[in-house]
Amino acid sequence: MVTVNDYLKSKYGCKVYKLALSAKVTCPNRDGTLGTRGCIFCSEGGSGEFAAGAEKSVNDQILEAKARVAAKAGPGAGYIAYFQSFTNTYGDFDYLSRMFREAIGVSDVVILSIATRPDCISDEMYGLLEELNKIKPVWVELGLQTANEQTARYIRRCYELPVYDECVARLRSIGIEVITHVILGLPGETREDMAATVRHVVEVGSNGIKLQLLHVLRGTDLEREYRLGKVPVMELDEYVDLLMYLLTLIPDNVVVHRLTGDGPKKGLLAPLWTGDKKKVLNTINAALKERKTNGHYFNDRR
Ligand code: SF4
Repeated sequence: MVTVNDYLKSKYGCKVYKLALSAKVTCPNRDGTLGTRGCIFCSEGGSGEFAAGAEKSVNDQILEAKARVAAKAGPGAGYIAYFQSFTNTYGDFDYLSRMFREAIGVSDVVILSIATRPDCISDEMYGLLEELNKIKPVWVELGLQTANEQTARYIRRCYELPVYDECVARLRSIGIEVITHVILGLPGETREDMAATVRHVVEVGSNGIKLQLLHVLRGTDLEREYRLGKVPVMELDEYVDLLMYLLTLIPDNVVVHRLTGDGPKKGLLAPLWTGDKKKVLNTINAALKERKTNGHYFNDRR
C-alpha cells in the first residue's frame, strides 16, 4: 500500500499538510438544480466540517488553517490548499478562478486540491484546471461513494457511473491527478459490492482513493433511516477486516489517501467508536502490521 504520506514525502521531500478551505459554494443536490435535500448522508456543512471560516478570504483561511497545524508542521513544511466543502467547481467561473489562483499564489502551498462532483466541471473549468496544473499540481477529488447504481439512487447522488468514468478520463488526459471518495457500509451493500466499487475506481484510472466509513450524522436524512432500523452500522473489528480485504485490491500505483473518516464528533450518531480516532488508527495499524508479518502484503493478489 502506498499511503498519501509516503507519496508526498517521496515527491516533495518534506511533510505536507492539508489545509481545509471553503470557497463558499453550494451544490446542485442542494440548490434545487438536482435536488434540495442533498445526498442522504451529507451534513449541513456539505461534507466539509473542518474547513476554516468560510466568510474569510482564501489567504486568511490559509493563515488560520496553518496556525492550527503549526505545532506539528514546523518550518519547511508544504501545504495542500484543499477546497473541501460542497461542490467547488460549481458556481461563477471568474469567482472560482480567483479563489484557486489566490490559493496557489501562496508560496508554500504545493498542491491545489479541489473536491467536486464529476457532473459539475464545465469545459471552461477543465481549461482552467489544465492551466493551473501547469503552475502547481492540481488534484481533483470526486465524490463517487459507490459504483453501484442502485445504491447511488438510494443515497441521491444524482449522477450515473459513466459520468464519473468520463470525468476521470478527461482529467487524466490533461494531467490532473484524480482522487476518488468511496463510502463503505452504505445501506444494502455487501462486501462484494464495496469490492466492486474499489475495483472500478482502480480500473477507471483514479490516481488515488479515499475510503471512508459511513457516518450517520444528526440532521441528515440518513438519521431518519437509521432510526427506522434501515442502516446497519459496522463494528470496529468488522470495518478493519473489510479494509484489509479491500486493500488487497488496490495496486501500488493508486495512492491510499484515507482509511477512515474524520466524522465531526458533535453531530455523530453512529457508529460512535469512530470518534475515538486514536483507537481506530491503532487498530488499523496493528492489522496492517499483522498482515505484513504474515506475508499477506496488500497487493499480493494482483
Ligand atoms: S455530499 Fe457533496 S454532492 Fe452530496 S449533497 Fe453533500 S455537497 Fe452535495
